[in-house]
Amino acid sequence: SHLPDHIRAKVQDHPCYSEEAHHYFARMHVAVAPACNIQCNYCNRKYDCSNESRPGVVSELLTPDQAIRKIKAVAAQIPQMTVLGIAGPGDPLANPARTFETFRMLSAQTPDIKLCVSTNGLNLPQYADEIAKHNIDHVTITINCVAPEIGAKIYPWIYWENKRIRGIEGAKILIEQQQKGLEALTSRGILVKVNSVMIPGVNDAHLKEVSKIVKAKGAFLHNVMPLIAEAEHGTYYGLMAQRGPTDEELQALQDECSGDMSMMRHCRQCRADAVGLLGEDRGDEFTLDKIDVMD
Ligand code: SF4
Ligand code: SF4
Repeated sequence: SHLPDHIRAKVQDHPCYSEEAHHYFARMHVAVAPACNIQCNYCNRKYDCSNESRPGVVSELLTPDQAIRKIKAVAAQIPQMTVLGIAGPGDPLANPARTFETFRMLSAQTPDIKLCVSTNGLNLPQYADEIAKHNIDHVTITINCVAPEIGAKIYPWIYWENKRIRGIEGAKILIEQQQKGLEALTSRGILVKVNSVMIPGVNDAHLKEVSKIVKAKGAFLHNVMPLIAEAEHGTYYGLMAQRGPTDEELQALQDECSGDMSMMRHCRQCRADAVGLLGEDRGDEFTLDKIDVMD
């Protein structure tokens, strides 16, 4: 398809990155990362991080040991399982001990499973080496803006160096860390996908600029996702759009951003505990009480 050959070789059996593979290979997320170090206006902490996950669904939180048991139980039932991701329910890199313990055990016990992780990017520069060490070859960074004035409308605060930093000052630090983290990963040969949440009236006109910049820094894919702005998902409405984009608005923006950049169009915004082929979610078959019965 549209990806360069050397990247396609790396992602050909990854259901998220290959249009063909997503019919044949399965992925799963394990929810081992409860804490977050920033606040997004579209997030309600009770639910999963919308870095990768549909807000509004509560995942079953697992310890690293429980996660390993679950992964083994799933792999025994779903042989096409090729990819394991950590995507929440908070920020994986705000829970480094739990996240990297899980990856460490997996690299040792199931070396054939590809690993990926997603993050808001705030802690990314400091963990780039650790990520490279665990042989995680795909990282997703959620980047919603490159301008602090826009960032201040999306992120009311970040938690940085033991302090809560609000407004433009906080957004500026987050943006700098995201960009530094992106460069740190691509310079180590790690594939980076960028996710952006399209928020009508806040960052929609700005995302073209984001696309240009992240592409220049080596991201291989940009995924523009719609804001899910329904009250039951807990979205904070104060400064935010009252609604998510329409399908037409989303598609128009994806077309505009694509240029020669690869655009991802089949991301399903899976739950932090999703299991199975894309478009199917068998997570409910593998909750802890059920895998205990399988043991
Ligand atoms: Fe919520 Fe994710 Fe934003 Fe953290 S990064 S506030 S978990 S949406
Ligand atoms: Fe793949 Fe998107 Fe689902 Fe992540 S959220 S597993 S990238 S389809």
